Amino acid sequence: MIYPWLQDNWSFLIRSLRQQRLAHALMIEGTAGTGKQRLSDALVALLLCTGVTDTDQDADAACGQCRSCELLSGGAHPDYFDIHPDEGKDVIRVDQVRQLIGSLHLTTSISQRKLACIHPAELMNIASANALLKSLEEPAGDAVLILVCNDPGRLPVTVRSRCQSIVVSQPDRISSIKWLEAQSGRSADVVQLALEAAGGSPVRALEYIESPDLDAFGKIRIALAKLLNHPGSASIVSQELIDLKPDDLWRWLSSCCAEAVRLTMTGSRTDWLPDSVSLNPRGLLDLQRQADINRKLSASSVRGDLLLQDWLIRWAEQVI
Ligand SMILES: [Zn+2]
Repeated sequence: MIYPWLQDNWSFLIRSLRQQRLAHALMIEGTAGTGKQRLSDALVALLLCTGVTDTDQDADAACGQCRSCELLSGGAHPDYFDIHPDEGKDVIRVDQVRQLIGSLHLTTSISQRKLACIHPAELMNIASANALLKSLEEPAGDAVLILVCNDPGRLPVTVRSRCQSIVVSQPDRISSIKWLEAQSGRSADVVQLALEAAGGSPVRALEYIESPDLDAFGKIRIALAKLLNHPGSASIVSQELIDLKPDDLWRWLSSCCAEAVRLTMTGSRTDWLPDSVSLNPRGLLDLQRQADINRKLSASSVRGDLLLQDWLIRWAEQVI
């Protein structure tokens, strides 16, 4: 199922396919959590499906029933290559790309073409990106390469310029809330909290609604408010938060800072920050930057508890 906010992108892809103008190298780009992978998966299924033809005017999705569709949903389609970093790694290696290129040159076994999806494409290193260039320009046979990318700026221009760009945008807040309410059947309060926790991404917000992670987001807000009222309690608060997943923790601390800056600048109020305190917006901006840096650092061997405690002490100092 294509998310409603991807419908324009999907219609464009279908139109291009019917008019035989679909590029052999596509880059689906946009911020994380907007459904880019879903769009890629739907296109992969359609391009491999043997139940519909490219020029079939009535088909706007894969049939879901043919041998190709069955194999793909079982994760065993011999003409499809899913290239992503190995678990726990943050790079797509050159040998993965070389192996893919070799496979694309073999004859197809089920479908009329081969398909590859590389995601997230920005995790290709220079050697991987260079190895892919020739295939992007001139893929073997009728192969189609799809690069799913959160951050195209991290890829060399030589790669970007060889792909047709499909830009996926985040839906506006009201559409997101309506969609989330319909999908989850939960109240507006829960949906809005989830959307804030997800930084505006409805896809991620839906995951939060259905997981205990949303409680963790609420916990962070309570902890930050407590610190403003009791600035000496950083080490206690740090213990309360240290078990959260570092990626979520730092993203949420960053988004709480962004919200606090916005509230401070506009003089508005929220239910989680204490009314009695005024905060230093410049200091909050620095802290937001630091949270973003710490999120990246948390994947390294740096001690997360020390990073967190230091950050919380600085948060408590922002009262003016
Ligand atoms: Zn099919």
